[in-house]
Amino acid sequence: MIAKAAAVALLGLAGAAFAAQTASGPRPEDTEVWQPEPPIVTPGPATSVPAPSDAVVLFDGKNLNEWVSVKDKGPAKWTVADGVLTVRKGTGNIETRRRFGSYQLHMEWRIPKGITGEGQARGNSGLFLASTGGGDAGYELQIMDSYRNKTYVNGQASSIYKQFAPLANAMRAPGEWQSYDVIWTAPVFAGDGSLKSPAVVTVFHNGVLVQNNVALKGETTYVGKPQYKAHGPSPIKLQDHGDPSAPISFRSIWIRELK
Ligand code: MG
Repeated sequence: MIAKAAAVALLGLAGAAFAAQTASGPRPEDTEVWQPEPPIVTPGPATSVPAPSDAVVLFDGKNLNEWVSVKDKGPAKWTVADGVLTVRKGTGNIETRRRFGSYQLHMEWRIPKGITGEGQARGNSGLFLASTGGGDAGYELQIMDSYRNKTYVNGQASSIYKQFAPLANAMRAPGEWQSYDVIWTAPVFAGDGSLKSPAVVTVFHNGVLVQNNVALKGETTYVGKPQYKAHGPSPIKLQDHGDPSAPISFRSIWIRELK
């Protein structure tokens, strides 16, 4: 009888916890996936890939002329020094002046040597493949340190954040340059705003295929289910994440529009 009473009490507690949980709505951890972990693939040595002749150069090491601050559309306030662009923490996200539909994009990025922090708070930034509004609105290809740094797999580097874990973990160590090569097919919307065809993306991280022609479920969301809302050609955005770890850097960012 004691066992039965204890069981009833436990059920009561579980019921109360369930009620509290449902009353408070969806939580961020509801959409975290931790298994299976993508296999680690060691990429070849880093090389910088300069822009081909028909590319729009978004950053060539000299200035931020192609970028604006997302907050006020004024000049982007990140740091350019020694041919490298570095996040200036607290100044907010930056995005391209130009808008793009479908494209091929190349970018190189570097987690600082000696990075501290863990999980999502370790070199977090992000490449928004289309920026559909202020803040973090859009579709995020995650940028962070995933070299011996555990987090949920659909939130690690090369994930389509909270939608698709990468096929491999091709991360180089902090201090080394990384590359992303992205083929983005923009979503198409009907006149009434309904989705005609989803966004589709293929991504290579350090030359390793990490996203293979995946159809996105909607815009990135930290909590709850991704959803689409109609938009046209959009800027491309880089994230100034609020975590306290040292800021990350970029170089050689270029794009080829696909008609
Ligand atoms: Mg991020």
